[in-house]
Amino acid sequence: MNNKPQIKKSNRPSRQSTTKKVGKGNACPLYKKCGGCQLQNMTYDEQLSFKQAKTIKYLGRFGHVEEIIGMDEPYHYRNKVQAAFGTTRGGKIISGVYQSSSHNIVMVDECMLEDKIADKIITDIRKMLPRWKLTAYNEDTGKGFLRHVLVKRGFCTGEVMVVLVTGTNIFPAKKEFLRALLKSHEEITTVVWNINPSKTSLVLGNREEVLFGSGYIEDILCGKRFRISAKSFYQINPVQTEKLYSTAIEFAGLTGKETVLDAYCGIGTIGLVALDKAKRVIGVELNSDAVRDAKMNSKINSAENIRFFCADAGKFMVGMAEEKEKVDVVFMDPPRAGSDIPFLKSIATLKPERVVYVSCNVETQARDLAYLCKSGYKVKKIQPVDMFPHTNHVETVVLLNRK
Ligand code: SAH
Repeated sequence: MNNKPQIKKSNRPSRQSTTKKVGKGNACPLYKKCGGCQLQNMTYDEQLSFKQAKTIKYLGRFGHVEEIIGMDEPYHYRNKVQAAFGTTRGGKIISGVYQSSSHNIVMVDECMLEDKIADKIITDIRKMLPRWKLTAYNEDTGKGFLRHVLVKRGFCTGEVMVVLVTGTNIFPAKKEFLRALLKSHEEITTVVWNINPSKTSLVLGNREEVLFGSGYIEDILCGKRFRISAKSFYQINPVQTEKLYSTAIEFAGLTGKETVLDAYCGIGTIGLVALDKAKRVIGVELNSDAVRDAKMNSKINSAENIRFFCADAGKFMVGMAEEKEKVDVVFMDPPRAGSDIPFLKSIATLKPERVVYVSCNVETQARDLAYLCKSGYKVKKIQPVDMFPHTNHVETVVLLNRK
């Protein structure tokens, strides 16, 4: 078994631009301050080797790690951009990202990972504020107006959502501000006002008002149409997501006869794509906004034989195990913390033939795989995918078969 962290030519992005060192002072002036691109001091090829080695370090003990799937053009891939707003001591409004492990804002006008249109909208909003005497929110005093701006863009559809997150429920000069924003950016298809008065590190609050358009955008992924609202999770790198999902669905070995569970399903993307090759799909997700979107996505894609439930995946699985439901394939795509014992235990009870585990955290994935390997499963395939170029994150797809 060759588990050396080497990248064969085939998965190596072909463009010359990707082999240059992007860091070391020749690319992003904010490299050190921002901390978002931990691997910028490496060429893209070196980054891929680093991620291959990281995957082998954590998952190599379960089996052979396939060569990581890299990105051809690893720039401006983020379809969702979020900026925090604040004021300097000199009274100037700034917008950007929080400096790593702090709440100091690093001013960002352009980022090589982020969508260029989204960056431009955010910068223009910042410049527009003083015209209506609109201020930035102050975290310490709880006073001031604009806390964050969130922009989501459908790369396939071109639809753009702008979410204005404010600390107060008063929006001075709302109509005039909106009119000016829409005039300067005709590509914006919807604007949502989110009110977040709490002392919290969460960006979005509970109250929302749609100021323009439908309150959501749509995008196309793997040939399916998806509705995305302000709060629901949608993969931030759609180009690589198509590769990730294709790998996951190929691993599942669907023949059209299977009952499939899509656990931690978000807005139902994996399940809806898998449905073409399965008999029926059940999706479970904790976030109620995402479940509402998932149900709507089934309608948009005229999908039958798919149902979505809003529940904790672990509790839901325990319920399924108690009801002795039959499941042939489980897709699981938990958040960074990984899955939990009730969920993993229920897999052992439900005994699906195959489990396809998609993860954004190899450490928690390794922990969960160890559990599954002790409960009747064997790891068959491990495929890393580079979903987040220039950062140290690696996404992995693992296929487990029942022994
Ligand atoms: N599979 C989806 C979403 C993956 S992100 C996609 O590819 O787009 C992980 C998802 O797990 C998020 O939508 C999050 O809301 C959800 N989640 C987090 N904890 C959960 C839990 N305990 N039970 C069910 N879903 C959960």
